[in-house]
Amino acid sequence: MQQTATLVWFRQDLRIGDNPALSHAAARGDLLPIYIYDDTHPQRWAPGAASRWWLHHSLSALNQSLQQQLRLFQGDPLQLIPQLLKQTGIQRVVWNRCYEPWQIARDQALKALLHSLGIEVVSFNASLLWEPWEVSKRDGTPYKVFTPYYRNGCRQRPPPRYPLARPPMMSYVESAPSGSLWPDPAQLSAKSFSTEPFNTEPFSTTPWHREIAASWTPGEAGAAANLQTFMRDAIQHYDTDRDRPDRAGTSRLSPHLHFGELSPHQAWYVAQNPLQPVAPETGRERFLAELVWREFSYYLLYHWPTLPTDNFQAKFDRFAWQDKPALLTAWQRGQTGFPIIDAGMRELWQTGYMHNRVRMLVGSFLVKNLLIDWRAGAAWFWDTLLDADLASNSASWQWVAGSGADAAPYFRIFNPVTQGQKFDPEGYYVKRFCPELAKLPAKYIHSPWLAPDAIRQAAGVTLDETYPAPIVDLKHSRQQALAAFARLKQPA
Ligand code: FAD
Repeated sequence: MQQTATLVWFRQDLRIGDNPALSHAAARGDLLPIYIYDDTHPQRWAPGAASRWWLHHSLSALNQSLQQQLRLFQGDPLQLIPQLLKQTGIQRVVWNRCYEPWQIARDQALKALLHSLGIEVVSFNASLLWEPWEVSKRDGTPYKVFTPYYRNGCRQRPPPRYPLARPPMMSYVESAPSGSLWPDPAQLSAKSFSTEPFNTEPFSTTPWHREIAASWTPGEAGAAANLQTFMRDAIQHYDTDRDRPDRAGTSRLSPHLHFGELSPHQAWYVAQNPLQPVAPETGRERFLAELVWREFSYYLLYHWPTLPTDNFQAKFDRFAWQDKPALLTAWQRGQTGFPIIDAGMRELWQTGYMHNRVRMLVGSFLVKNLLIDWRAGAAWFWDTLLDADLASNSASWQWVAGSGADAAPYFRIFNPVTQGQKFDPEGYYVKRFCPELAKLPAKYIHSPWLAPDAIRQAAGVTLDETYPAPIVDLKHSRQQALAAFARLKQPA
């Protein structure tokens, strides 16, 4: 019997610092750190291809920090954990909480099972600044609108807890069973994770993951480096530059936060006390508010568990989304003929990331100009984003579609030309991801079809040969969308 040892179940907390479950266990004795790739739960959201790539590298990094002691399993935690406890004689299990509805149900069932076996179970909050059940309106119901949620809900509560230090010492259970699936984490990629995201022929000739690997460093050290760079170089101008895809104006912390390589508590307190004391309040405050947008997404998912599948506003169930596979494919591949949209979709494909402003533009374009269901867009993002997150992705898509809780009004239809001119005025972002347009002057970079023939010729651009002509008419599709949305206002 292992009286002082603890089984530490890592999930979306792939870090050593500010890890309450790990610290709790390390203070009590030896550790048996495990990760389970749970592919058994019927309601689970299987991670997309980009997420699997990240997970593989993040687990390798965590394993190094744990002196190669992380055990990796694949299967049902309700079977695997009791089995492991039996084999090792360990009497205590700890984990940090997850918030997807199926994870909550699974963890509750596991907790009940372990209690019935006389096992001590302790769970912690490691990935939200405030628990979703702690924040409610005066009448006890959940908030649906961000600003009162943030100002009257979160900011009126005690501040988030201060991040914990790394455990000063970690010792491990000797002769614990090795992971049944991946005894050697180096085999993760070869054995279990696809190296190409889709079964369809890759549209880029460069292997997909090579470019992603060049842009990102999964793991706790990569997260800390991004946070440090952001605090040093960008937080001063964050309030304005966060909308500029042509600048390095945001933190690029989203995948790190999703996989828990960094806690929001760490980001919150570093931002409150940045290395650059001159950082103006506006940049700092804006960054804190964005971290709370993440919280708000989790809050909505917790209180409305059907957020990923059902319109938050039921009247959208009557919306006549159109089934247009060819247009959906053009959107996915960055071949719509609207440079800012195409640059965004290609950024996503090539780097596993897309700038937030551009996410809003490509979302609005899909849903409002093409009238394609937001769920098709969310599914594509789910497979291709490294930061694919059930809460943030679902809440954001519903926001863009107008069907969400605190949604953009249906009549806000972004114009990809004027938005491009405003947020990428010189076209640097477009030129980076649509190099075939690189020689167009800035005046036409967001509307190549409007350039005089001679200018297009001089730039080597031939519509529908070197670059697509627009796949929809902006004015007409906007009117169609307004009419379709207006019909929702009529009684059913
Ligand atoms: P920063 O601007 O540096 O923000 C710091 C952190 O705040 C981010 O890392 C993120 O955790 C959080 N944050 C910022 N904006 C938002 C937001 N609008 N909603 C929720 N959290 C936010 N974010 C995801 O993490 N996963 C997703 O799957 C996802 N899908 C999206 C889909 C659509 C259609 C849209 C419009 C937005 C989506 N977002 C998603 C939100 C946002 O685009 C990204 O969090 C952000 O671009 C990440 O870049 P960053 O880390 O540099 O952000």
